[in-house]
Amino acid sequence: MNTRDFRTFGHQFVDWMADYLDAVERLPVKTRVKPGEIASQLPAEPPRMPEPMDRIFRDFETIVLPGMTHWQHPSFFGYFPANSSRPSVLAEMLTATLAAQCMNWETSPAATELESRMLEWLRQVIGLPPEFVGSIHDTASTATLCAILTARERVTDFAVNESGMSAAGVFTTYCSAEAHSSIEKGIKIAGLGRMNLRKIEVDESLAMVPGALDRSIAADVEAGHTPVCVVACIGTTGTSGIDPLQPIADVCRRHGVWLHVDAAWAGSALILPEYRWMIDGIDGVDSFVFNPHKWLFTNFDCSAYFVRDVDALLRTFHIAPEYLKTWADDAAINYRDWGIPLGRRFRALKLWFVVRSYGVEGLQQMLRFHISLAQQLAGEIEAATDFELLVAPKLALMCFRYRPPGLDDQKELDALNERLCMTLNDSGELFLTHTRINGNYAIRFQVGQTGTQERHVKQAWQRIIETARGMERGAGITPAD
Ligand code: PLP
Repeated sequence: MNTRDFRTFGHQFVDWMADYLDAVERLPVKTRVKPGEIASQLPAEPPRMPEPMDRIFRDFETIVLPGMTHWQHPSFFGYFPANSSRPSVLAEMLTATLAAQCMNWETSPAATELESRMLEWLRQVIGLPPEFVGSIHDTASTATLCAILTARERVTDFAVNESGMSAAGVFTTYCSAEAHSSIEKGIKIAGLGRMNLRKIEVDESLAMVPGALDRSIAADVEAGHTPVCVVACIGTTGTSGIDPLQPIADVCRRHGVWLHVDAAWAGSALILPEYRWMIDGIDGVDSFVFNPHKWLFTNFDCSAYFVRDVDALLRTFHIAPEYLKTWADDAAINYRDWGIPLGRRFRALKLWFVVRSYGVEGLQQMLRFHISLAQQLAGEIEAATDFELLVAPKLALMCFRYRPPGLDDQKELDALNERLCMTLNDSGELFLTHTRINGNYAIRFQVGQTGTQERHVKQAWQRIIETARGMERGAGITPAD
């Protein structure tokens, strides 16, 4: 493609992008394509000859777009948000254009130094103590894996990196029964063994019970095992449970165990001083991750990982083959040594654009707005006699179920609510996901999209009650076939 065509299509695409973001709410949130439907429209073999960009773009619109779930739709209330913003998208365009590989300081000094400054900004705005130093990773899963690996190395005096796991004995790890699956995955990858991950019981607020953690670690020590790492969660995926850091940190300190905090979603809310209580006990924490790519208007991927002991991190990941050595190695940061991949995208640029465009106060306003919308909706659910608010929003996530008077059978309630959730999603008007609480099906509702306004939440609630009550009356609403 020559410069003239690049310019022409670039302008055309930006127009398309602006129109898309303005009009996305008129599209169905969730696609209704069937498995294989998109693949069947794609040629089995690559084109032998060049194809014109307008044809490629036409296929993007006609084949790809109908198969997309629109995460930036203001009525996307499922999972956790992966929200974005116009400044972030513009920065991503520049990142893509520079296409720099930011593994070493020398490969792009500005990328390294901007990343250091952005992580320092984030550290300040979320209230982590100054000893914490951060870097950007693709996901919280990767950051948590880094924490587990560093904990493993610290507890073995960096011996597993050298000699493998053979003579190491049993390493035990801990998280609550509500923790995210990325922890179990990290334990498996780190070679510590899924069966050595203890799922600690939770209390009625679905937060880890520190006493149970203490007993579990003590039993492992008694059995001759080596406790390595505890992962506490601030804002669990199912129900936004908040593990109590202070008593958990006390337990970890007493047993000399690494404490990692997974605040993938809820960490963004720490920019609000009124939510800083969630990290009471941070002084006993070794590492901490949160995702600006979830609830801080920064395009996926951008996960901020902070550690207290950078030396332990570097001793775990540093590697220096001849071809990567540079003259600046003693004077500057090489982020390739701060995590798993060698190659790194220039992710700090979008953070810089977002934080400067909104300002900290603008970001705070947005999050407070989401939280207030969630609380408003929770009030409506609570007031409805045929709905049950199962988890009130501590932040902007709640869980509920439809429970028509007289229906008490848990299995029937599960089936009814599963059908309700599917029917709502098939309507294309909103998108919700579910979890299980004490084994029972619960519908999750989170508010966190950049474009979500009060009317979207109100319309969603209206649609939920109409659909649910229609189902009860047997008005023929069934999941689309
Ligand atoms: N931790 C929690 C609490 C999450 O909710 C999620 C994803 O939703 C993750 C970790 C994984 O995040 P990522 O996709 O960045 O690995």
